[in-house]
Amino acid sequence: MADAPRIHDHDSADGTISFEEARAHVLASVHALSPIALPLTEAFGCVVAEDLIAAIDLPEFASSAMDGFAVRASDVAAATPASPVDLKIVGRALIGRHPDATVGGGEAVRIATGAPIPAGADTIVPIENADVSGEIVRLVDGSSPGTHIRPAGEDVRAGQVLVARGRRLGAPEMGLLANAGQPTPLVHPRPRVVILSTGDELIPPTETPEFGQVHDSNAYTLFAALKEAGAIPVMAGIVKDDVESFKETVFDYLIQADAFISSGGVSVGERDVVKAAFFGRGDVRFYRVAMQPGMPQGFGTIEGKPYFGLPGNPVSVFVSYEAFVRPAVMKMMGRTQTERPQITATLAEDVSGPKGKLQFARVHVERGDQGWKATPTGARGSNLISTISRANGLALIPAGVEMAPAGSQVRVMVFRASED
Ligand code: AMP
Ligand code: MG
Repeated sequence: MADAPRIHDHDSADGTISFEEARAHVLASVHALSPIALPLTEAFGCVVAEDLIAAIDLPEFASSAMDGFAVRASDVAAATPASPVDLKIVGRALIGRHPDATVGGGEAVRIATGAPIPAGADTIVPIENADVSGEIVRLVDGSSPGTHIRPAGEDVRAGQVLVARGRRLGAPEMGLLANAGQPTPLVHPRPRVVILSTGDELIPPTETPEFGQVHDSNAYTLFAALKEAGAIPVMAGIVKDDVESFKETVFDYLIQADAFISSGGVSVGERDVVKAAFFGRGDVRFYRVAMQPGMPQGFGTIEGKPYFGLPGNPVSVFVSYEAFVRPAVMKMMGRTQTERPQITATLAEDVSGPKGKLQFARVHVERGDQGWKATPTGARGSNLISTISRANGLALIPAGVEMAPAGSQVRVMVFRASED
């Protein structure tokens, strides 16, 4: 790859790159997906790819904000209870249709809330200030021009930007676009991300393990993580540690994939299938990244589609996803906010780590009187999956720090905001 950084193969003695270098390489290799016009219900949550311009005024026509009478302000200016003004009722203005009359001098049209203002009228007298007898309405109060009228274009004028490029469609934007008659906005679509689990030992969670077999958990972690990010996970299932069947599965899914994530099979074991399949060919490279967990990583593209070869241990998968995949998926969706929020917290316990590697320590953060406090959720082993389920953040213990003592300040990536 032309823009690949200095990457050394995994088996060489100095084949380690920094976390920052690995991440910069990943992010430089992925791009926002080409925009497509999607129906609103599918476009929800997607990032708008162009300024969406109002083609019509909102509201499109002037309407009444009250039930009452549409009249001329000049006719009723002098009305008081002591000297009321009588006007002739010449028609009705109902919602959803043209008024059946115009308003001339000395005339009034009965009007409902939301109905278009009849030509000739410039104000509304509410029903409370009117007394009807037969064809005549007696008005006991004046009303200045524009009162109780919702003017056309008061909200948005034709030609104004409704939703700016780069904005993500949330509930208010959905309503706004529907109101403006723009049912198929141009957006960056959600990437379809194929998830593969590799390993002869793996079985689906629906099966009972024989001795030595392991339930595939990574596919489910990734499924949920991708859903949460707004991507479309595609579960490709478990692939045995067999190079041919692995490659066949990857190529079978190529046409429907915008990206791939596999877990397992990227380290130096003889049966490390992902590495064996791609090593030395194509654009997938294997790195040792100076991070813990998640040191062995494969990353590249297959026919232009990003391929993330994550290590197999469940905690490594989660951390690698947060560190590399999620920001890349966000970028593919056109998001400018690709990162998790970070806070500074005080460590409640000592956290020791491997020197020379950035450690992602699983912590639970909570706000106390002294600011944020981060408590480690268990031992460091990257197979200990319950330690991430108790956590809501990953404390970043920088490379070079062998022990971050209790009481010291750390940066924490917060990966869930609420406690439920
Ligand atoms: P590997 O990277 O393939 O050597 O796998 C490392 C460890 O992670 C092994 O103990 C595997 O059994 C375990 N592992 C790999 N894939 C999965 C998975 N999909 N779900 C749960 N554990 C896994
Ligand atoms: Mg394996």
